[in-house]
Amino acid sequence: MSVSLRSVALVATPLILVGGYLMAAPSESDKSDDATTAAPAAADADAKNTEKLEQATFGAGCFWCIEAAFDQLNGVKSVESGYSGGRRPNPSYESVCTGATGHAEVVQITYDPAVITFPELLEVFWKIHDPTTLNRQGPDTGTQYRSVVFYHDDQQRQLAEKYKDKLDKSGAYPDPIVTEIAKFEAFYPAEDYHQDFFAKNPTNAYCRINTLPKLDKLKKAFADKLKGAKPQAADNAAAGGDAAAVDWKSIDWKAKLTPEQYRVTRTAGTEPPFRNEFFNNHRDGTYSCICCGTPLFSSDGKYDSGCGWPSFFQALDDNRIKQIEDRSHGMVRTEIRCAKCDAHLGHIFDDGPKPTGVRYCMNSASMKFKDEKTGEVVEGGQK
Ligand SMILES: [Zn+2]
Repeated sequence: MSVSLRSVALVATPLILVGGYLMAAPSESDKSDDATTAAPAAADADAKNTEKLEQATFGAGCFWCIEAAFDQLNGVKSVESGYSGGRRPNPSYESVCTGATGHAEVVQITYDPAVITFPELLEVFWKIHDPTTLNRQGPDTGTQYRSVVFYHDDQQRQLAEKYKDKLDKSGAYPDPIVTEIAKFEAFYPAEDYHQDFFAKNPTNAYCRINTLPKLDKLKKAFADKLKGAKPQAADNAAAGGDAAAVDWKSIDWKAKLTPEQYRVTRTAGTEPPFRNEFFNNHRDGTYSCICCGTPLFSSDGKYDSGCGWPSFFQALDDNRIKQIEDRSHGMVRTEIRCAKCDAHLGHIFDDGPKPTGVRYCMNSASMKFKDEKTGEVVEGGQK
């Protein structure tokens, strides 16, 4: 009985919150930053804090490991292990383990979208497990270990489908991605002894073999997103200012980036003109370094140069971009790199429009774009 009550409470509240947030998102989010409501102060502050939180539900094999991984991320408020996607309510661990109930072992993540976005959670989700093995993760087999995104609303569905499609086409995996994308129906928290299992049982043999490697991978690939690392907030990024918080040189860029992003940013490659994500992107938003997240350009500084690469006449802050003389390919050009993480970005030329007269000729693969209106994040280097 107590299990059933607990499930109902946990499932019902967030659904309303998430729906409310999304429906109100474009107009309400701006206002809610100001203290506009006059309700009793303390209770209201609490309500405000939870108002902006959203939920994501992922299955990626044994929930002990996945919970431990998502728990490390900045912006993640809580992670709970449980079951979703099955046919009967309130399943027990034993019944789920038979595979007969249809449930998947999942983690339910409550996060602050102002700090970590749903696409960023998707990125971590897809990188810490193998999404190409049907109903199996490592030693665990059965439909309860299937790779699955349970979307809470249509925006999550679209983002997940798009990301999966891109990942498939990127060639990052030798085999097709089998991750299921299904509508979220209900979440049933797992028994108490499963919650924070890795934190409570760090020497458990299963965890040593299966969880620790996942956490290592996470720490290498997502150093900038971990709790304790300073957030790469747009405004405080006086480039290099918080470089001490993250050792950019120690990051396993191959694990973090798509092959094309890696080739361009870490080996000073150049992507083909006209066959990249942003050369003709006219949406309003911000372009940030694909490697470290430093905001580099705004759509306000972008123009159509006709060269086939995304071109800007103005950077958000010149200090975030360093210039280096480049004598490769028999030319003398000026290479531009991210001042914080040393990613190769492109070149700068003096044939730009007024008022600056310069052209930052960028590779799409060096950047991710955040749409100012929808919040959608698109990475370059997927083609
Ligand atoms: Zn960077």
